[in-house]
Amino acid sequence: IATKLPKVGTTIFTVMSQLAVEHGAVNLGQGFPDFPVPGRLVDALTRAMQAGHNQYAMMTGVPALRQAIAGKTERCYGWQPDADAEITITSGATEAIFDAIHAVVRAGDEVIVLDPCYDCYEPAIDLAGAKAVHVALDPLTFAPDWAAVRAAITPRTRMLMINSPHNPSGAMFGVEDMREVASILAGTDIILLSDEVYEHIVFDGARHESALRYPELRERAFVVSSFGKTYHCTGWKIGYCIAPPALSAEFRKVHQYNVFCTFAPAQHAFAEMLVEEPEHYEELGAFYQAKRDRFRAQLLTTKLKPLAVPGGYFQLVDYSTVSDLDDAAFCRWLTIEKGVAAIPLSPFYETPPAGQRLARLCFAKNDATLDAAIERLRLL
Ligand code: PMP
Ligand code: GLN
Repeated sequence: IATKLPKVGTTIFTVMSQLAVEHGAVNLGQGFPDFPVPGRLVDALTRAMQAGHNQYAMMTGVPALRQAIAGKTERCYGWQPDADAEITITSGATEAIFDAIHAVVRAGDEVIVLDPCYDCYEPAIDLAGAKAVHVALDPLTFAPDWAAVRAAITPRTRMLMINSPHNPSGAMFGVEDMREVASILAGTDIILLSDEVYEHIVFDGARHESALRYPELRERAFVVSSFGKTYHCTGWKIGYCIAPPALSAEFRKVHQYNVFCTFAPAQHAFAEMLVEEPEHYEELGAFYQAKRDRFRAQLLTTKLKPLAVPGGYFQLVDYSTVSDLDDAAFCRWLTIEKGVAAIPLSPFYETPPAGQRLARLCFAKNDATLDAAIERLRLL
């Protein structure tokens, strides 16, 4: 069959999780927490089902949840979107990213992505008949090169995609970066897609620079987030997209024929959580910072060199003192021979930097899981 996605195989997350199961490895590869969701959320979900919220939700999402997101956005970023016209609930951030791209990107258009980038971006661009234009982040700090982004813009550029806190590196954009984005987009009709799924997982007192804080950005942006990251429930696949009314209208044209709506009971449960327990997302940074600090201290007793992690729940490690294998081979070896599954960075790139020796470890895990991994990593 003539494939529409010649560059795509099975995602690295599936490949490495399978390998972890086959070899009994501690799985620090695919990004998912191994601890329970908040008790109140489970209660709220059960109550929502018992109360009969089991049929199709509104296409745009349960109104109480859209209202709750509007309130949370105001609380966090000082601006309140219109719950009816500007917020749409999706089946995870993945659906939101797919819908946003397909809503506005046409065949022949170009979309600028910053490498390394999350693996669902380029296939969605390809399926729209458009071209992903890759601009590399710094291979060590993962800082953006805004001059290179400027230079990559052509009359065909339709969209710029950004992701802060960043997967896989944890790097975060500062105010200056957001000003650069605004200045680059000013006077163009380029749309911004800001992937902010790790918005609440930020460390050391830093502030998440949401595109929603900046009027000149939010007026041309799809801002995407996911409850999977914030509420330890990646398997529920509920996310959302905030965009101005005209962009949301186009977004909803795709959403309504892609999935129409998403799991109704969970939407009621998240509405309750956001309103009744804002401490959950407000304290999430501190919760993960403790895990990061504990894990980093342990890694320093191994031969792996941990890089700085400003946000998110991934720790990059430099393994060059352990092995000269390329990252894909190293991660397979680590999983099969040493019993710890990790994710290589090369699948996040069009062209991986030559000689890069980095692997990604997920620390969204119970202390016991991380301890078991460290015990094995000490033997490297
Ligand atoms: N964007 C990034 C940067 C991610 O890390 C993920 C999940 N790993 C997603 C999007 C997708 O989120 P969801 O699981 O809600 O579809
Ligand atoms: N986002 C998760 C990660 O980066 C994986 C999600 C998936 O498996 N598709 O590990």
